[in-house]
Amino acid sequence: MKSLDQLSFDTRFARLGDAFSVQVLPDPIAEPRLVVASPSAMALLDLDPAVAEQPLFAELFSGHTLWDQADPRAMVYSGHQFGGYTPRLGDGRGLLLGEVVNDAGEHWDLHLKGAGQTPFSRMGDGRAVLRSSIREFLGSEALHALGIPSSRALCVIGSSSVVWRETQERAAMLLRLAQSHVRFGHFEYFYYTKQPEQAQQLLDFVLHAYYPECQQDSLPYLAMLRSIVERNAELIAYWQAYGFCHGVMNTDNMSILGITFDFGPYAFLDDFDANFICNHSDDQGRYSYSNQVPIAHWNLSALAQALTPFVEVQALQEALNLFLPLYQAHYLDLMRRRLGLTVAEDDDMALIEQLLQCMQRGGVDYTLFFRHLGDQPVEAALNVVRDDFVDLAAFDRWSEAYRARCAREPGNDQGRRERMHAVNPLYILRNYLAQQAIEAAEAGDYSKVRELHSVLSRPFEEQAGMQAYAQRPPEWGKHLEISCSS
Ligand code: AMP
Ligand code: MG
Repeated sequence: MKSLDQLSFDTRFARLGDAFSVQVLPDPIAEPRLVVASPSAMALLDLDPAVAEQPLFAELFSGHTLWDQADPRAMVYSGHQFGGYTPRLGDGRGLLLGEVVNDAGEHWDLHLKGAGQTPFSRMGDGRAVLRSSIREFLGSEALHALGIPSSRALCVIGSSSVVWRETQERAAMLLRLAQSHVRFGHFEYFYYTKQPEQAQQLLDFVLHAYYPECQQDSLPYLAMLRSIVERNAELIAYWQAYGFCHGVMNTDNMSILGITFDFGPYAFLDDFDANFICNHSDDQGRYSYSNQVPIAHWNLSALAQALTPFVEVQALQEALNLFLPLYQAHYLDLMRRRLGLTVAEDDDMALIEQLLQCMQRGGVDYTLFFRHLGDQPVEAALNVVRDDFVDLAAFDRWSEAYRARCAREPGNDQGRRERMHAVNPLYILRNYLAQQAIEAAEAGDYSKVRELHSVLSRPFEEQAGMQAYAQRPPEWGKHLEISCSS
């Protein structure tokens, strides 16, 4: 275990040079205070969880103090936002402080979000509000606990500094951890600004640092794109299987590592709804729940376009064509597990689709359905979940097929229930739960955020006294409008 002054830094990205990032010092926020920290994220840096309570911790992650070895940088990138190309975005309010090398030899980027204005701030104030910082903290840590690839969050630091959004709010900073902050939009920036040397330098950096296994391939860049396609196929399968809606799948919010990245107006499904749009600003539903699959493919195509100076178009196309079949295979696998099935049968996809159609018509809670189906022997469990469906005849047909399907599985029903509880969370980050925790934090009470984070860090385990976190949303909590404002 290390203390805060014992972290060891590398600055690989900063060393790429000023074409890739510019040095900017954090602009501190006033009267910093710890809102919440993640012990498991701290462990990635070998930090003792107790150091979160030290004043130095809040000073470091609110811009008041900086390590000597840090080289804070704002990265330049561009990206397709809602389908249209924006030629220059970049870190308008976040800084890459440096890369901590942990005892296992892993590099973890320290990215301080809300650290003040940079040359990429455009009209923005460079700040993040408490509300959105807590949302990113809870969202990324909850996904990680579910086993879904994501950037991580070390902590949120609150302050007395005031910022203006629709109304007056408090500024906060979030310390994000990820092994890389390179986005699809980084490659688009060098492609569209016609800087092939820099594009190649970045490609080589990413290849060497994050896809070393592709270096042996006769066409390393193509092999890397293939790996990126594979990782995204798996990521999106997780999102769909667990009902996660990202909300702003612009190419500047897509990580080159295939992890969930850049949290805005995201949401987990409450009732299953294939057409759900979580981002109140997304009028056309471009980033609706079911569109996430074709949009991820579209985003990968945008990345591939940026690689056309280096790889033949035909080969890029073939790599992109891997996406859909890989996605389908991962999704099917995850959904089989959610249903407690271990062997594959030809009709499994139809079984899943029929279930989702019944859910769609009935307004059935997506998380609790799978959990409850694993609570009891199959017959009894089906009887309990049946109450939530509207088209009972359709549900009964599905039940019949599921019962028969379970009977063809090896092993006993106890095994099915144990398998299901290991993959079906009891607790999910519902928007209304985040909202309640945020409102308490805005009033100065951080205990709700901390408790919610703690519950969500063990989502599959029933926790004593925490029943309130395992309920369907109340009526007011079903229709919260979350916009891009952050
Ligand atoms: P996002 O919607 O958070 O992915 O941000 C899109 C772009 O807007 C990025 O370049 C951000 O750095 C920038 N941005 C968002 N909010 C602010 C802000 N308050 N100040 C400066 N830049 C911002
Ligand atoms: Mg972004």
